[in-house]
Amino acid sequence: MVAKELLFPTTPLEKMKNKEYDVLIIGTGAGGAASVLRLCEKWRNKKKQIAVIEAGGSVLPAHANNMKVKNPESYYYKVSNSYGEHLNQFSGARELLALGGRTLFWGNVCPRMPTEEINSWPISEIEMKKYYDIAEKKLNVTKAFDPSIPIFQNFINSGYKDVQSFPLAVTRLPKNSVKFFSSLLFLNEAFKNKPFDIAINSRVTKVLINNNKTVGVKVHSVDGKECILRSKNIILATGAIETPRLLLYSGIKGKAIGHYLTNHSFVKAFCNTKNYKKASILLPQTVNRPYQIQIYINKGKAALASFGRVESSFENKVYINKKDQDIRGVSKAKINFSYSKNDLLIINEMKKELEKVATIIGGSINSRDGKPSIQVQEPGADYHEACTCRMGTDPTISVTDPYGKVHGIAGLYITDNSVLPTIGAVNPVLTTVALSFRTVDSIVQN
Ligand SMILES: Cc1cc2nc3c(=O)[nH]c(=O)nc-3n(C[C@H](O)[C@H](O)[C@H](O)COP(=O)(O)OP(=O)(O)OC[C@H]3O[C@@H](n4cnc5c(N)ncnc54)[C@H](O)[C@@H]3O)c2cc1C
Repeated sequence: MVAKELLFPTTPLEKMKNKEYDVLIIGTGAGGAASVLRLCEKWRNKKKQIAVIEAGGSVLPAHANNMKVKNPESYYYKVSNSYGEHLNQFSGARELLALGGRTLFWGNVCPRMPTEEINSWPISEIEMKKYYDIAEKKLNVTKAFDPSIPIFQNFINSGYKDVQSFPLAVTRLPKNSVKFFSSLLFLNEAFKNKPFDIAINSRVTKVLINNNKTVGVKVHSVDGKECILRSKNIILATGAIETPRLLLYSGIKGKAIGHYLTNHSFVKAFCNTKNYKKASILLPQTVNRPYQIQIYINKGKAALASFGRVESSFENKVYINKKDQDIRGVSKAKINFSYSKNDLLIINEMKKELEKVATIIGGSINSRDGKPSIQVQEPGADYHEACTCRMGTDPTISVTDPYGKVHGIAGLYITDNSVLPTIGAVNPVLTTVALSFRTVDSIVQN
């Protein structure tokens, strides 16, 4: 049973298998829950049947910070799985199967993609702006920035004219406290608009296609039962590793499926600062700075994180090997991934820039627990993997059309990180939510 804080009950698969749905949404993370919300709002007064399938259970009834989880990072490690040997070239990635997906633990940082990224997309900047505005409103993204605050002045005087505070998906509450957004808030709001069926602990193992039309999905429940759910429209939102794996395992054809896996190279550092007690500062990606820097200061201790832009490469991919299967005979995801020469140059630049940032805040990066505190993280550790089913107009180099519909298959859509055409050096959730709303609007219109 779902925890009390959630407004919606779960539905047994036994009951769901007797229905034919108008839309089935698979996955309840950032992209999936945004699709559920938009669809329930748009079809509020329509006699349409919506269902949601989630592989995980109710791990937390709200964002870890709202639940006052003591050490969210180690709790995340406890409830998620390492992909282990299967993703050895992408060893930082972790799989979290949970109602709410990774938004139960995310850092809520929500910047927009810069114009230079969107210019290479099959969507106009004006249209992206429209959907960014809607997504920011729904996520309650903060815009607070006071350039008169000394630390910002310090950055401006050091040449960082574009310094910002973190745009955060949080709701301000009385007494200076905040509520952190997780997808569960979208699911609650959706259910208030229009009730939907939802099964948890139920993993979709195959998308069923007949004559290039979507007909349903095969689902395994935790108690080992298998069933088929019927729907003419399916929205896949199982994340940028699982979604291409599902398409490949379902026998869906497409040269680009799983390819162009893109993440952010990730460098972390720590330092002390006597000058400032508390601040959160973002130096965004620009044309001349192909990386972003996040600076978080609390009680004089600063955590610096830099995300670097990674080139799109056909060779970086999620794939399956039919011989490597789980206990149910389902092929596991495997990954080929490496950084290009240019990616490595950017990583070096990021390291130097973090040293510079440390001096601006009056600190210097030194060793921590006997290790140098400036550390390049392993690929996948940014948790921003994306682009494996990227949108585009050419089916030989993209998986979906510009509205998230899989090329050549009627009724099959994707709304998670995998459809992003590029991810620049920008945290992905705001963009994934914006595109998810846009894909649902196109489903509703058509
Ligand atoms: C600690 C941490 C901090 C982060 N901080 C930020 C940040 O500040 N800003 C930002 O933009 N991003 C951040 N991220 C990244 C962000 O959380 C992810 O990029 C985002 O959640 C991805 O959305 P998604 O819909 O693609 O996948 P997910 O959120 O992972 O959702 C996938 C969903 O599909 C379900 N699922 C998987 N397989 C199946 C299946 N076969 N059948 C049914 N259901 C399935 C999963 O259980 C899950 O509910 C952070 C992530 C972590 C872990």
